[in-house]
Amino acid sequence: MKLTFLGTGNLDRSTEKSDDPITNAYHKGGKDHRAFNCLFLNGVCVDYPEDAPEQLEKYKLKPRAIILTHGHYDHASGLKKPTTIPVYAQQTTFDLLSSYPITHKRIVRAGQGILLYGIKYFTFPVKHSFTSPSMGMKFGKVTLVGDCGEVDPMVILKTTGQRIVITDGASLSKKIVSDKGIEQHESILEQMNKFKSKGIKHLVFTGMGVRTLYPHEKLEIALNQYADKINADYQVSVAFDGMEINV
Ligand SMILES: [Zn+2]
Repeated sequence: MKLTFLGTGNLDRSTEKSDDPITNAYHKGGKDHRAFNCLFLNGVCVDYPEDAPEQLEKYKLKPRAIILTHGHYDHASGLKKPTTIPVYAQQTTFDLLSSYPITHKRIVRAGQGILLYGIKYFTFPVKHSFTSPSMGMKFGKVTLVGDCGEVDPMVILKTTGQRIVITDGASLSKKIVSDKGIEQHESILEQMNKFKSKGIKHLVFTGMGVRTLYPHEKLEIALNQYADKINADYQVSVAFDGMEINV
């Protein structure tokens, strides 16, 4: 089965008009151009930001269900436009999106499984935001962590022995903590340390932001060199829009 990354950037992408040449790399196209966070698997869109409809059309994919990890703009803003596709999310996520015209709500408790078209998505809570609680999910050999402020023992437990882990790529070496600590993103290097020796074969970073806007290939090479240095047993990929992996 094929998992397609439709969007691999976070909200920092909105710094579009910056004079900073690194930031502007986003807009040169190719692997450095990133739509907002969105994945597609077997008829299911995980997260649905404003550019999701465009990306779905580009890759000729039709979602039959949407699962939201959380309610942040770069994950859910596509639902500002009405859709008849059922949306699976936590009640807190729907509360946050109460001004959006979402009619087909399916409430999920983090910890609950969702069976969609023959695949079971085992959800679990992820520490990322106090105002917009997030959930990750495990399906088949994949653990999708998504935006994550701290890879906690719960996530590690869900991940141990999993073949592929898809996680937060917003920051390279320093944890991001927003005002009053409301939102947090664990750094890539810290996560690489935490995920080593867990039987993971492939660690994929997505949700890249201004702090990780290195030229794509250079960042990926540097991260794999770091994996060698810490004797990690996984290969590292930096996701890009249109990337596909078999799961
Ligand atoms: Zn977020």
